[in-house]
Amino acid sequence: MIVVMERNATDEQIAHMIGRVEELGLKAHVIRGAERTVIAAVGIKRESMKESLASGPGVAEVVPIVAPYKVASREVKPDPTRVVAGSLSVGAGMVGVIAGPCSVESEEQIMRTARAVKAAGATALRGGAFKPRTSPYSFQGMKEKGLELLAAARAETGLAVVTEVMSTDDVELVAKYADVLQVGARNMQNYRLLEAVGKVPNPVLLKRGASATMEELLLAAEYILNEGNPNVMLCERGIRTFESHTRFTLPLATVPYLHQKTHLPIVIDPSHGTGHTPLVADMALAAIAAGADGLIVEVHPEPEKAMSDGYQSLDFGQFEKMMDRCRRVAAAVDKSLG
Ligand code: PEP
Ligand code: MN
Repeated sequence: MIVVMERNATDEQIAHMIGRVEELGLKAHVIRGAERTVIAAVGIKRESMKESLASGPGVAEVVPIVAPYKVASREVKPDPTRVVAGSLSVGAGMVGVIAGPCSVESEEQIMRTARAVKAAGATALRGGAFKPRTSPYSFQGMKEKGLELLAAARAETGLAVVTEVMSTDDVELVAKYADVLQVGARNMQNYRLLEAVGKVPNPVLLKRGASATMEELLLAAEYILNEGNPNVMLCERGIRTFESHTRFTLPLATVPYLHQKTHLPIVIDPSHGTGHTPLVADMALAAIAAGADGLIVEVHPEPEKAMSDGYQSLDFGQFEKMMDRCRRVAAAVDKSLG
C-alpha cells in the first residue's frame, strides 16, 4: 500500500505514520517527492490495515500498489531516480559511462585502461576481480589483488569503481574497495546475495539474467530495495534466444518498457549484448537514443590478448570514437554524458 501524505503534512505526522506502518508489521519506505511525501508500506497485508492507516494524521489517502514489485514501482515514486557513486551519475537526465576491461589482469593493464577511458570521457571504471566463468578451467579473476589494483586506478584517475561480487561471503570485502557492486547475470536470482547487497551502503548494478523476464528482474531489484538500499541500477545485457549472429540478443525495448514500470535507472551493456566488437558502438548509440541512463562497455588496451571477452572489447581508439558519437546522440535526446 502507498500512504500518500497531504501536501502540507508535517515531519511529525510523517514520523508518526512511519511508526504506525511498522507497528502493523510492515516495512516503511519513505519517498520524498517534489510534490508530496509518500510512505510505501510493504509486507504481508491483513484486513483493516488500509482503513487503520487512512485515518492517521496528515494522510491524504491510502492506495494499493498494483504491481507485484512495490518499492521499484513507478506507482510509488513517479520521479526518476538518479544513482550517484563518486564520479558516476546515472539517471534523471544524466547518462553515465562505465568502461574498462572484462577482467582486471595486471597493474599496467588496468592503469592504462583507466587513463584512456577517463580521457575519452568515461565516468566510471569497470573491471572484474571475481569472474563468473562458464568453465572452471578459465581465468577466475585476480580476486583481492584485483580489487587493490582497481582502488589504485581510482586513486589516480578519480573514476568510481564498478566490480562484480559473486558470493555473500565476499560482499564485505568487495564493498570495502568498490564504489558500485555489480550483481552478474548468473546471480540475478541469488536471493541471499541480493539481500546482502541490500544491506551495504554501496549502489548496486543489477544485471538481467540471460533468461529472466522483466518482472523477475524487477522483483530481484525489489529484494535489494526492500533491505533499505535505494540505489539500484538495472542493466540489460542481452538474453538467450535462437539467434546465433550475436552472443546474446540485446532487446532495447527494455529501456522504454522499464522506464514506464520503474523509477530506477537503466544501463545497457552492448558488449555482452552483442559479443562482437564491430557491433558494440552502434548498439551503444541506439541505447542512448532509446533512453538508456547509462552504458557499461568493455575496453582493453589489446583486446586480442585479453584473458576474457576480448572478442567483444573495444580498443582505446574505438572507445574514443564511440564516445564522440554517443555525446552527439545524448545531446539530441536532451541528456548529457558524464
Ligand atoms: C561482466 O560484466 O563481465 C559479466 C560477467 O557480465 P554478465 O554477468 O552480464 O555476464
Ligand atoms: Mn565480460
